Amino acid sequence: MLKKPKPVPCILTVKDVFSLSPHMVRVVFTAPELESRPLGCEGANCKIFIPNKKQNPEDLIEQILNGPRPTVRTYTVRNFRKDVLELDIDFVIHSNGGPASNFAMNAKPGDFLGFRGPSDVKIKDYYADWYLLAADMSAIPVVAATLEKLPRNAMGMAIIEVQSEDDIQNIDAPMGINMNWLIHSNPHKQSRAQEAMIRAKKFPEGIIQTCIAGESGVIKSLRKFFKDETQIPNDDIYISGYWKIGLIEDEHQAQKRLEK
Ligand SMILES: Cc1cc2nc3c(=O)[nH]c(=O)nc-3n(C[C@H](O)[C@H](O)[C@H](O)COP(=O)(O)OP(=O)(O)OC[C@H]3O[C@@H](n4cnc5c(N)ncnc54)[C@H](O)[C@@H]3O)c2cc1C
Repeated sequence: MLKKPKPVPCILTVKDVFSLSPHMVRVVFTAPELESRPLGCEGANCKIFIPNKKQNPEDLIEQILNGPRPTVRTYTVRNFRKDVLELDIDFVIHSNGGPASNFAMNAKPGDFLGFRGPSDVKIKDYYADWYLLAADMSAIPVVAATLEKLPRNAMGMAIIEVQSEDDIQNIDAPMGINMNWLIHSNPHKQSRAQEAMIRAKKFPEGIIQTCIAGESGVIKSLRKFFKDETQIPNDDIYISGYWKIGLIEDEHQAQKRLEK
């Protein structure tokens, strides 16, 4: 099958910044090029390229296209308002302060970064009898966007782990989704609570689809559980490690490639 061409990179300019909760910042970006991005891309991932201090937008685009590779990170389109050319990305503000987290923490209107994407959305069709969603804070954007897109009569369970009670968000989930918020105050210590809750659940009969993402150690263990202990076909499972304790994104991505 022919590989889809990579979308052309563009510059996104910061239009607004909101603190959503103690550990999450929403940055509202704008760009004329958003006109060409597809409606309904909420939940799809994208690449952001962080400029260095002295760089102007033209230099950054030149560097994205022709190298050397700038600092690149993977994020999720949380909201897209094509009519007003606005795209929101929600950033976890984490204590280890990587370049992306720092960018968001200090962002102000007029700042810019490079953008490539969005990719395809993670779940294209919703046909399950029961949905299982799980996230840590880095995956709230994909799980929240998925919950908002689910058929309004969908049934299932969502387990979302946040660092404090004040990090709990309002999500427009279908009434039939049982929402569970867990508190895990130290993200640098691997959590066992989501897996324990998933294991304790007796899955109903019928088709199950999942949307699960978060810290790679947690995800690795859950992936093994689905493979060894459930009959859910691979095509119905979206599960992905979004970051890894102790590794910056480039190291984590390199490790994921080795494990494939
Ligand atoms: C498909 C995909 C979609 C993603 N979408 C989002 C999103 O919408 N919002 C979001 O916030 N993240 C998202 N992530 C995760 C994000 O890419 C990583 O958290 C990334 O490492 C952040 O970059 P950084 O520059 O802030 O930190 P890095 O320079 O990569 O890492 C610096 C240090 O911070 C630690 N660290 C990284 N992320 C976290 C974290 N979440 N909590 C605690 N410590 C951390 C690392 O282990 C490392 O020690 C997504 C990842 C993938 C693969």
